[in-house]
Amino acid sequence: MAEEPKDTKPGFQNPVAGFGVTFKAMFKKRLTEQYPEQQKTTAPRFHGRHQLNRHPDGLEKCVGCELCAWACPADAIYVEGADNTEEERYSPGERYGRVYQINYARCILCGLCIEACPTRALTMTNEFELADSSRANLIYTKEQLLAGLDEGMVDTPHAIYPGTDEQDYYRGLVTEAAPGTERQVAHSKGEVVQEGDSTFGGTEPASEEVIGR
Ligand code: SF4
Ligand code: SF4
Repeated sequence: MAEEPKDTKPGFQNPVAGFGVTFKAMFKKRLTEQYPEQQKTTAPRFHGRHQLNRHPDGLEKCVGCELCAWACPADAIYVEGADNTEEERYSPGERYGRVYQINYARCILCGLCIEACPTRALTMTNEFELADSSRANLIYTKEQLLAGLDEGMVDTPHAIYPGTDEQDYYRGLVTEAAPGTERQVAHSKGEVVQEGDSTFGGTEPASEEVIGR
């Protein structure tokens, strides 16, 4: 049997040594954070809520391939792909993600899904306030995950930039929505298209410089 280690200190020193730890802690910098009143800035590469990204004209980058769902160790992602049509196009290629859900009751924010995505459609933001008391609310839908519209973008569905193909999007040649895209979207929603709708569907770019900044 292993021998008990001998206590070499006289008995009265033990409580003093214990209080010593307390005294040292009293003069250390306090670590209390005033959350949520004061929000902490996360590290730039912090793994927070996911985002489904768009091309610079507003078309979606997701092609509905499900690779992210297969890569997920927590089975937290559900994707259903569908075919684009010329009347209703969401991404430049053949397919798009019709249904996209992430279950944050399962997600461990490991980032394997974003590594698996071939189009950089899926990335992670710095948003970490994901707690909720309802399981249903923790299932984020495509509408919640889809990135907002930056300048030059028009919401889907709409046609690809005239005179380009899917590859041009990945080469970075398309940098904004084609002229007339708003009218095309309005028309697809059954809204009244204003005067000058002859440009409906967008105009041909005069040259490659028009689409490549
Ligand atoms: S971050 Fe990890 S756990 Fe969460 S959805 Fe992606 S692969 Fe799954
Ligand atoms: S987010 Fe990426 S990996 Fe997932 S379905 Fe869309 S394109 Fe495929």
